[in-house]
Amino acid sequence: MSHIRENMAAVCKNIADAAASCGRSPQEVTLIAVTKTYGVDAINEAIDCGAENIGENRVQEVMEKFDGVKPVCWHLIGHLQKNKVKYIIDKAELIHSVDSFDLAKEIDKQAKKHDKIQRVLLEVNVSGEESKFGIAPDLCEDLCLRISKELTNVKIEGLMTIAPFTDDETILEEVFKGLKNLSEEISSKNIPNVSMKDLSMGMTNDYQLAIKHGATMVRVGTGIFGKRDYTN
Ligand SMILES: *Cc1c(COP(=O)(O)O)cnc(C)c1O
Repeated sequence: MSHIRENMAAVCKNIADAAASCGRSPQEVTLIAVTKTYGVDAINEAIDCGAENIGENRVQEVMEKFDGVKPVCWHLIGHLQKNKVKYIIDKAELIHSVDSFDLAKEIDKQAKKHDKIQRVLLEVNVSGEESKFGIAPDLCEDLCLRISKELTNVKIEGLMTIAPFTDDETILEEVFKGLKNLSEEISSKNIPNVSMKDLSMGMTNDYQLAIKHGATMVRVGTGIFGKRDYTN
């Protein structure tokens, strides 16, 4: 038997509690149900239980599942290769993983073909872990400026980061505060067509803490669907 219904309810309650505990409204936090490795039946069940946003980290999986999944907002949260942008451009509401001008430029080109303004977040490697994608924090403002100046069909709406996998709250807080501070700094520059309204941070392991530090989007997979099985 699947536990998706009770897990969804528990995660929603945790989000509401975390928001309330720091004086925020639960409506300020969007839950993105991360569906990588899960099939369309599980995804549709989550949608029936109230999931309105789903996140995938691979373009291939979006393509395989898209037609079988009920109408919902799709988020691309994983590393995106330029040559795959064309497959995702008509499907992704928000791309969380822009980390270079070249990628943004390709998104702009494909978005124009679809007469679309593609909403994106910049992925920032706040922790500095070598294994992580994302741009260095000190390059973020320049990337915003350049995208703002040169690209018409890409709209930056905030920042995203992936925290290290650890239970050490000090390390996690440093990362979440780092992303929040960076977004405030960029916001204060009033760059045309760049908004810093969204902060995508927090996963199963740490979303309550992320909410305390200003997350507006949390990306929860395991906490809703259970452990992932990568064997097939
Ligand atoms: C898999 C994934 C998540 C969700 O991870 P869980 O620990 O299962 O909640 C969130 N963000 C990204 C970018 C992911 O790839």
